[in-house]
Amino acid sequence: MAEERNHTRSVLIAIGANLPQGGQSALESCEQAVQALRHVPGLRVQAVSRWYESAPMPPSGQPPYVNGVVLGVTSLPPLVLLDHLQDIETQQGRVRSVPNAARTLDLDIIDMDALCQTAERLVLPHPRAHERAFVLYPLRDVQPGWVHPRTGQPLEQMLQAVEGQEIRVIG
Ligand code: ADP
Ligand code: MG
Repeated sequence: MAEERNHTRSVLIAIGANLPQGGQSALESCEQAVQALRHVPGLRVQAVSRWYESAPMPPSGQPPYVNGVVLGVTSLPPLVLLDHLQDIETQQGRVRSVPNAARTLDLDIIDMDALCQTAERLVLPHPRAHERAFVLYPLRDVQPGWVHPRTGQPLEQMLQAVEGQEIRVIG
């Protein structure tokens, strides 16, 4: 227990979906993912961004994505948290196929208290977060002061660099 308390970390989790599943829209899948996150033992959800709609990256014929970001605090080790996220993806009908395939739900860990690691299963901070408008805009809703742990770049600068990417608030 003492160890758990010592390892409490803030965490940013990106949520994305672009396929309906079981009669549920991509937006409903994202909302259901937040509910599932609220039930993960050892994770406390502190803030949820607005929902955004974005064009698929890289561009493809896929439907648009719904995206959001959750800010939480967790006592879980990073890989245990990742296990929970992948369980939630699977419960919501995620089938892993080719990279960047359309998906019913994607949960990525963007940052855990500025931890930097490059293990195969978990790269932190998320290696592509800084170049994706669909991560950075919702992230600003929950943590406007976020600074990229590797580059030291403030969020506003990263947002300027992704200005051309198509994204809009939907709720
Ligand atoms: P992507 O999210 O890049 O489209 P997937 O969701 O299919 O791809 O994840 C592929 C693998 O990426 C996962 O099996 C996971 O082990 C690994 N991974 C590495 N770093 C992270 C991270 N920060 N968050 C989530 N998954 C990660
Ligand atoms: Mg993922």
